[in-house]
Amino acid sequence: MNMPHPFPRLLVLGAHGQVGRELVRSLAPLGEVIALTRRSDDHDQGWFADLSDPVGLVQTVERLQPNWVINAAAYTAVDEAQSASGQLMADRVNHQSVAALAQCCVRLGAGLVHYSTDYVFNGQGQQAWKESDPPHPVNAYGLSKQQGEEAVVQAGGKYVVMRTSWVYGLHGNNFAKTMLRLAMEREQLRVVADQVGAPTSAALLADLTAHVIRQMDDVSYEVPAHAENAAVFSHPWSGIYHVCASGSTSWHGYAQRILQWASAQGWPLKVTADTVQAIASSEYPTAAPRPLNSRLNTELFVNTFGLCLPDWQQGVVDMLNSLHPSALK
Ligand code: NDP
Repeated sequence: MNMPHPFPRLLVLGAHGQVGRELVRSLAPLGEVIALTRRSDDHDQGWFADLSDPVGLVQTVERLQPNWVINAAAYTAVDEAQSASGQLMADRVNHQSVAALAQCCVRLGAGLVHYSTDYVFNGQGQQAWKESDPPHPVNAYGLSKQQGEEAVVQAGGKYVVMRTSWVYGLHGNNFAKTMLRLAMEREQLRVVADQVGAPTSAALLADLTAHVIRQMDDVSYEVPAHAENAAVFSHPWSGIYHVCASGSTSWHGYAQRILQWASAQGWPLKVTADTVQAIASSEYPTAAPRPLNSRLNTELFVNTFGLCLPDWQQGVVDMLNSLHPSALK
């Protein structure tokens, strides 16, 4: 007789992205991690998950029968999403496939962790946004992410949507690496100072995700007798949560912190923390408008899961300390 496997099967989608790579690390102690990218490679025995194909995605998930799906795949090209073709792709990857995935997870009785963004808000005011504040995205990427998170909530079941901000990781391109490279190459550097948010490390998000999954699996909850399908009845902690590092800064303040660190390490900078220029968003036009106020109020997450969110500077310095100059080339 086959004994049931004692560990959950955890399916990571978008396993080559900033958050995806860290999830593969952080989830390993929890169970059997299956890491899927959009195309098959030599290591995945032919499995892949392309979110531009909702039907194929659902077939793959149904075959793999996970206990949890952690969706770190997304169309994240914010400016490209403003074009007609980009908008179509953002809608398919960030909305249609997420809707199909959420419904599939409910059918399978699997939990779902999904990530969303501060860009669901319009950025007005100075207050940190709460989960109860109405979303009002100012660009097509933000709209596609808002529609995706709504679809997860509508499907119900056992799910967490983590709305986060300004994600960076050791792997992949990000603001920190760009600033370091430009500060060594150029005589002048101008950085936007009127957009405020919390730089959040992919490693922190991945660690928090592992804690959340463990805690949600440990909570037992009553399924009402009238519920036809147990999975349809939501876990008491299912919901949207704001999850980012503590504190906040502007892109300019973030750049200054990076360059301070680089000066202290003796990097050959042409622009330093003191000489990087602060400019307004209006002086740096982009295809997609960005929200000015991206502060997220994280009280609900901290109180529900009893987890601490370290200051943003800690994660940035940790990442920089692991960065080798050759990674900038
Ligand atoms: P990345 O852009 O680093 O990673 C996204 C991953 O999704 C990439 O590996 C990419 O694959 C994959 N992907 C894109 N299209 C498809 C597709 N059609 N099928 C399968 N996979 C696809 O993003 P992050 O890790 O930074 O973001 C993780 C989550 O956090 C996302 O939901 C994002 O919206 C959210 N978020 C990100 C923020 C940020 O500043 N980066 C801020 C706030 C929220 P490939 O490697 O092949 O391109």
